[in-house]
Amino acid sequence: MQNIKVIAFDADDTLWVNEPYFQEIEKKFCEMLEDFLPHHSVAKELFKVEMDNLGLYGYGAKAFVLSMVETVLKVSNNTAPIGLIEKVIQYGKELINKEIELLGDVEEVLGKLQPKYRLVVATKGDLLDQERKLMKSGLEKYFHHIEIMSDKQVKDYQKLIKHLDIQPDEFMMIGNSLKSDVLPVLELGGVGVHVPYHTTWAHEVVDVKIENPNFYQISRLGEILNYFGD
Ligand SMILES: [Mg+2]
Repeated sequence: MQNIKVIAFDADDTLWVNEPYFQEIEKKFCEMLEDFLPHHSVAKELFKVEMDNLGLYGYGAKAFVLSMVETVLKVSNNTAPIGLIEKVIQYGKELINKEIELLGDVEEVLGKLQPKYRLVVATKGDLLDQERKLMKSGLEKYFHHIEIMSDKQVKDYQKLIKHLDIQPDEFMMIGNSLKSDVLPVLELGGVGVHVPYHTTWAHEVVDVKIENPNFYQISRLGEILNYFGD
C-alpha cells in the first residue's frame, strides 16, 4: 500500500449504475420477442450472440444494439417485421441516454484521495459513450487520466501502467469485476480491490478464491479510505 502512486477506478457499476440499465433493456427485448421464443430462451440466444461478437465489436451499448438486431433475425428465422428492428434501435438510444446515477461514497472517496494520489478511470466500452458518461457524471475534475480500454486483460493493464510511467506495485485498481478489474492487476503485481455490485453481467462472473496479499475485498467503496489513514 505504501508504494501506491496511481489509483485507477473502473467506471460501470463502480462509480455509477450500469448493469441494471442493460438488464432493463434486455427484459423489454425478450418480452418483445415472446411470440417467437420464451423469455429465457431469447436471453440465452442474445448472450450467445453477444459472446460471438465480442471480438468483433468489443464492449458497450453499440455492440449490444448490433447483437440485439442479430438476435431478432436469428430467433425469428429472418421473418420478424421491420418494426422490431426499429424498436431495438430505440432501446439502444434509450440506454445511451440514461441519466448517470452515482453510486454511494463516490464523491467522498475521490475528493479525499485526489490530493494525495493520481486518480485514473480505467473502463471498457464505447469511447464516445464512456466519455459522455464521464462528462455527465461531473466527476471529470477528479481524474488525471481517462483510459477507455478495448479490453481489460493483463496486456491491456501492462500498457496502461507503462503509459502512466509507474511500476506495477505502484498501481491500484478498484472495481466491481474480479475478472476484469482485479485478477489481471494482481497477476502483474499491482494491488486489486474488489467492491462488488449487487448484480454482475454473466460474462464477468468468475468463481475463484483469491489468496494474494495484494488483494483487498471491501463491501462498499468508502471502506477503501480505512486503508489510507488520514
Ligand atoms: Mg464495472
